[in-house]
Amino acid sequence: MHPVKEAEKTRVSMDFGQRYYSDNPAEAEIFRKAGLWGKPHLGVDTCPLPEFKGQEFVIVAPISGEVIRSGFAPDYGFHLRIVDSEGRLHILAHLKTAPIVKLGMQVYEGQDIGWMGSTGNSSGRHLHYEVRTTAVLPPPPKCRIDPNQFMFEAE
Ligand SMILES: [Zn+2]
Repeated sequence: MHPVKEAEKTRVSMDFGQRYYSDNPAEAEIFRKAGLWGKPHLGVDTCPLPEFKGQEFVIVAPISGEVIRSGFAPDYGFHLRIVDSEGRLHILAHLKTAPIVKLGMQVYEGQDIGWMGSTGNSSGRHLHYEVRTTAVLPPPPKCRIDPNQFMFEAE
C-alpha cells in the first residue's frame, strides 16, 4: 500500500528512474554534494501538495515484514529498513524523527512507523521510498526495483 497515510493530499515529486536535476540553486547544490547530479533516482519521492504543507503526514509500512534497521544515516536521515517475506528490502527515508518501530520488530502492512520529514540529504519535506530485491550490502547492481508496484496496487 501507499506508505503515506493521506496519499490523496500528496504528489510524486520525483519518480523512480527520473534523473536528479533542479532549477533551484539550493536544491541543485544538495544534489551535487550528495554525488547524485544527473543520476537516476532509485526510489519514489512523495511530498505534500502545496495546500497541505502545514500538515503532518503519518508514514505507514507499505508491506508486512521484519525491521532490520531503524535509525539515522547521513544520506537517508532517520529511516527504516523492512525485509518482506520475499526477501526484498523496503527503505523509508528522511523521516521527521527516529522511526517508532525498532530493530527486530515485525511490522504489518498499514502500521504507523513515523512521520514525513526532511532529515539527511533532503532539500525539503518528502518521503523517499526505495525497494531492493535483496537486503545484501553493499547493494548489488540493478537490485533497485520500481516501488510504484507496491504503492499503487492493481484493482
Ligand atoms: Zn528520493
